[in-house]
Amino acid sequence: KGGAKTEEKKVLNVGTEATFAPFEFMEKGEVTGFDVDLLNAVAEEAGYEVKIDNTGWDAMFAGLQSKQLDIGMAGVTITDERVESYDFSDPYFESKTMIAFKEGKVDIKTAKDLKGKKLGVQNGTTGQFAAEKVAGKNSPDISKYETAALMFQALQGDNVQAAVTDIAVALEYQKNNPDAGIQTVTDDEEFESEYYGIVFPKGSGLVDEFNSALNTVIDNGKYAEIYKKWFDK
Ligand code: GLN
Repeated sequence: KGGAKTEEKKVLNVGTEATFAPFEFMEKGEVTGFDVDLLNAVAEEAGYEVKIDNTGWDAMFAGLQSKQLDIGMAGVTITDERVESYDFSDPYFESKTMIAFKEGKVDIKTAKDLKGKKLGVQNGTTGQFAAEKVAGKNSPDISKYETAALMFQALQGDNVQAAVTDIAVALEYQKNNPDAGIQTVTDDEEFESEYYGIVFPKGSGLVDEFNSALNTVIDNGKYAEIYKKWFDK
């Protein structure tokens, strides 16, 4: 039988937390966003197909631990602690903590101003760790939400006075809610740069292939194209 050669690509199972626009969010029942485009480009370059499911944050890490997931892609910061339990790709995006609050309700200029305020964070994220650094680790002032969406809902409903999250996500929320009076502030003294990586189960054989594919996608201009699509609108 003639015709085109068919290629059987291995399908990799990917978990994410899809309330983290512009990196991953739901649109018409599909997960979309910067991370989705980037992962598709990198996987294609590496010769794989990816199936991305909105597992949620905790289930994503559990699925990586149990190796039911091959990849986690959710704006995940490469931290010393996580590197103990997971493998990461090379960094693909620089980030920083940002504070979002409502204009006129509180006045926040630096990280120190978070002290004594009711804070919302997404559970188990670097935003939580940043809030804890100021307010204390088991501070009753910190409310932890399962998703970024629930954290922003709490801010919207005045259940918290400030949300502590990642810079691009706070700015996207501010942009998408122009009537909410959202102010954003970061603190270059208190908050350090962090870097997102693609997450793999510890010992995954995919890391090297994905790193070289990621480098190709950066070198051939595809990364810049995806960046432009989501950040230079
Ligand atoms: N970058 C942050 C972290 O890894 C938040 C990620 C997220 O909420 N999806 O902790």
